[in-house]
Amino acid sequence: MNIILLGPPGAGKGTQAQRLVDLHHLRQLSTGDMLRAAVKAGTPVGIEAKAVMDRGELVSDAIVSALIGEELDATPETGAIFDGYPRTAAQAASLDDILTQRGRKLDHVIELEVDEDALVERITGRYTCASCGKGYHDRFEQPREPGVCDRCGSTEFKRRPDDNEETVRTRMAEYRAKTAPVLPIYEARGIVSRVDGMAEMDVVTASIEAILGQ
Ligand code: ADP
Ligand code: ADP
Ligand code: ZN
Repeated sequence: MNIILLGPPGAGKGTQAQRLVDLHHLRQLSTGDMLRAAVKAGTPVGIEAKAVMDRGELVSDAIVSALIGEELDATPETGAIFDGYPRTAAQAASLDDILTQRGRKLDHVIELEVDEDALVERITGRYTCASCGKGYHDRFEQPREPGVCDRCGSTEFKRRPDDNEETVRTRMAEYRAKTAPVLPIYEARGIVSRVDGMAEMDVVTASIEAILGQ
């Protein structure tokens, strides 16, 4: 099963992807995570991507599609959840090629529909465990024991440098201009489902599960 989660920054793609990984033995392929790893490692791709990401703009199609191709080769046949990719029509075309070359196909494109006004608060309150990467939020998802990760017990957390209000506005504009046009491509194939991303996290997960079980 290969699934794309689509939605603007803060829609809940990463949160839901982590849950689907646990439920269905799928691999999460997040181009944002791959790019942040490249930045941290100081690779040529990371050096090129860093300034673009700090501004909230999109990294080049060639870079992200190459990253996805490499990671898909290391992904088991049970399938992948694409989180934050494709983000342009050109990336959608590349993904078709990448999947076809590997004898795989897309099963579902799930759009998380959200109210833009809520996204700034979601993003500025977001943080993750520095050790296992589990996502949290200052208001909406706190660890059960304050300061201790529910999943791995780590006491270190981190915030992304691009999760500030100014960059979020640019990222939303990029989404509207370049990523929203990806949806009609998949709508024409009849594989798009919509979920209310403003609902509680568990309700969103249940809605996605209902779609996957169809
Ligand atoms: P994305 O990957 O789409 O950018 P995230 O999954 O990282 O978004 O979610 C952004 C922030 O909002 C996180 O801190 C997360 O805990 C929180 N969040 C995600 N889904 C919901 C929800 N349904 N209701 C409230 N907060 C949410
Ligand atoms: P979010 O879901 O919160 O928008 P991501 O972690 O998916 O954040 O992406 C962070 C940044 O990494 C983006 O603002 C962009 O600069 C870059 N990026 C991630 N995925 C892509 C992609 N598929 N194409 C181009 N740039 C990307
Ligand atoms: Zn952890």
